[in-house]
Amino acid sequence: MEVKPEVNIADLFEIHSNLMAILLFTNTFCNENNLPFVITSLKTDKVSGRVSSSHRDGRAADVSLKYWPEYKIIEFETKVNGIFYDQAAISKSDNRKRACVIHDSGKGRHIHLQVEP
Ligand SMILES: [Zn+2]
Repeated sequence: MEVKPEVNIADLFEIHSNLMAILLFTNTFCNENNLPFVITSLKTDKVSGRVSSSHRDGRAADVSLKYWPEYKIIEFETKVNGIFYDQAAISKSDNRKRACVIHDSGKGRHIHLQVEP
């Protein structure tokens, strides 16, 4: 696991335990599939300063999709949304309960992981 320089690594100690469980799952998935695991946003974003409330609350994390082939993105999304359904947050954009959302909120397409309070 790697974090971008703009991510405050101390945030890792203040995130929701269910989000930590998903990050550990992500770490294993990346190791097994030889994919980079790069966290691009946790509670704060030192560069843009713009994060959603789920990030500020320690309930969301963003992971880079750089070097992830499309079929692995789909496999990861399907697995996370199955395994972590009970812990997942409801997306404001479409009211769907999902732990993993693949989206582009203005800083490039990425994995957004989210858990309910
Ligand atoms: Zn996010």
